[in-house]
Amino acid sequence: MKKILIVEDESSIHSILKDILEEENYETFDAYSGTEALMLLERETVDLILLDLMLPGLSGEDIIERANHIPIIVLSAKIDPSDKVNCLLKGANDYVTKPFDKEELKARIKVQLRSSDKNNSLEYKDLQLLQDRHTLLVKDQQVNLTKTEYAIMKQLLLNVKNVVTKNKLLDLIAMDTEDCNEDSLRVHISNIRRKIRVFSEEEYIESIWGVGFKIKEQN
Ligand code: CA
Repeated sequence: MKKILIVEDESSIHSILKDILEEENYETFDAYSGTEALMLLERETVDLILLDLMLPGLSGEDIIERANHIPIIVLSAKIDPSDKVNCLLKGANDYVTKPFDKEELKARIKVQLRSSDKNNSLEYKDLQLLQDRHTLLVKDQQVNLTKTEYAIMKQLLLNVKNVVTKNKLLDLIAMDTEDCNEDSLRVHISNIRRKIRVFSEEEYIESIWGVGFKIKEQN
């Protein structure tokens, strides 16, 4: 479930936003000031921030500067183009003026979430590796991989169409894990295959005998 932080000091607007997001099955977090937002971001990882600009204490612009690694949609009554430009240049991803249209806001949220998934994901056919969440999806279903299995899948998906040699794979995943030798690599690969098979009949990992592994090309 995607997590969205609402930063809005006006409680009536805050609760409208919360209702809209919960209708769409997002998990919401609430901040009523800039300071509260920053405190919350220290302990929670969120996928998106809906951000008012005129806030008590720290302003929305301050939050953008400190949190611009997270997708941010500014929601503001400030309609001056220079405010928009300023926010976008500081790192906000989108700017919606109040009063906002509910459906338009929902669509803009979806667009931001989709593009952040794309930026952070490695994809091949029905496989999607979400790097920011360390998660593999097969046909949109989440597969629980161990740290080592994740590291292997990442290397295979970074090198789609190429054989990744056993040695290279071992070198690469040694950075992420300690327990990898040639025998355990085989075990890890077979575990990954088994986990993928739960959701897909396709065989995704091909063994190239004596050389290594590759993502098998699908028809
Ligand atoms: Ca406000």
